[in-house]
Amino acid sequence: MIWYPYQQMKTMKEPYKIIDAEGVWLKTPEGEMIDSISSWWSVIHGYKHPVLTRAIKDQADNFSHVMLGGLTHEPVQKLSDKLREFLPGDLDYSFFSDSGSVAVEVALKMALQYYVNRGEMKRIKVLSLTHAYHGDTFKTMEVGDDEDYHFILEAYGEKKNVIHIPTEIPALEEAFEKYHEELNCFIVEPLLQGAGGMRMYDLSFLIRARQLCDQYGVLLIFDEVATGFGRTGNRFVADLVLPDILVLGKALTGGYIGHAVTVANHKVYDGFYSDDPAKALMHGPTFMGNALACSVALKSIELFEQEDYMAKIRRIEALTRREMEGFTAPGVKEVRIMGGCVCVEVRDAGILEGYQQFARKRGVFSRPFLNCMYAMVPYIISEEELVRVLTTMKAWFSGRGQEP
Ligand SMILES: *Cc1c(COP(=O)(O)O)cnc(C)c1O
Repeated sequence: MIWYPYQQMKTMKEPYKIIDAEGVWLKTPEGEMIDSISSWWSVIHGYKHPVLTRAIKDQADNFSHVMLGGLTHEPVQKLSDKLREFLPGDLDYSFFSDSGSVAVEVALKMALQYYVNRGEMKRIKVLSLTHAYHGDTFKTMEVGDDEDYHFILEAYGEKKNVIHIPTEIPALEEAFEKYHEELNCFIVEPLLQGAGGMRMYDLSFLIRARQLCDQYGVLLIFDEVATGFGRTGNRFVADLVLPDILVLGKALTGGYIGHAVTVANHKVYDGFYSDDPAKALMHGPTFMGNALACSVALKSIELFEQEDYMAKIRRIEALTRREMEGFTAPGVKEVRIMGGCVCVEVRDAGILEGYQQFARKRGVFSRPFLNCMYAMVPYIISEEELVRVLTTMKAWFSGRGQEP
């Protein structure tokens, strides 16, 4: 029996069975539908991309995996070289892992140990945002503030070493003023908070955060697992404000296979670089630097550059604004658009009940959560396909529950 994610198994609706997928289309025995959420925001090039599929097949013909403990190989070397060139500033040191959650764990461990290595034992607190989501493992749940995980608060009581603030500059300044001696890092999903409700906020907040982190010697971590590779309309938000540690996942491999990376700048790396073995970073996921994942990630980044994906994302944003800006209907609280993300926030989650089935009948796969109906489409989507997705979203509010 399969235990499905985020589901009450007793009342779960039958999931749609996928038998094939190509471009933006998911194929089921009953017909096809556009994947409007890119398989949890990862499939940026669409399904069955010939270049990516070839990269995995060719690597599998050679070898699929060897561990990075005492071994290395060309795919991981090439990917780390590529990331060094592709990522901004001095984010040059790539620590690979198998999922976004683990990569965030690694970032948090790096930040804590960075200070421990310097003998600063009091810096054990993490500053993070309200409504933050950083993954499903224990420390990431703790630094997160997603309401689906509040059971951890109920079970544990107060979080001792995490401070949450809203995305407002006065709250930020106050937190630094009060806690700077105990903070090792400030972790954020920059500009767009995904799983916490597709919340968008202003760049000025991050600029101020960078200043305060510099002023008080606190590490700034950008969790760009969701926002990386163009989703906000920027290649990376790190292109605008440079963090000390950057976490990438989801779209890193074009959604082909799970992999993630924690990228450190020179300052962080130097905090571990020593003759003392006790100052080494003690982490090593079994499948880190997996050769299939690295091969496909490298090709994914090459496609992103060669085929000018930023232009594709600007086109998606323009079309989305044309179709959705100013849209209003009873029950709609707000429409938010940023880059390749659009969210229709409703006043009550109940309003979205049945939407998935409604969209399915119109050839769109959607998965609303909390009060959010949203789309994060593969970047290769055509205008006609994108308009179908957006029209379906709007139609829910005019013809709720009606047959198409
Ligand atoms: C999805 C996500 C993660 C967790 O990634 P997994 O690969 O699911 O472990 C972490 N941070 C953010 C911002 C995410 O959106």
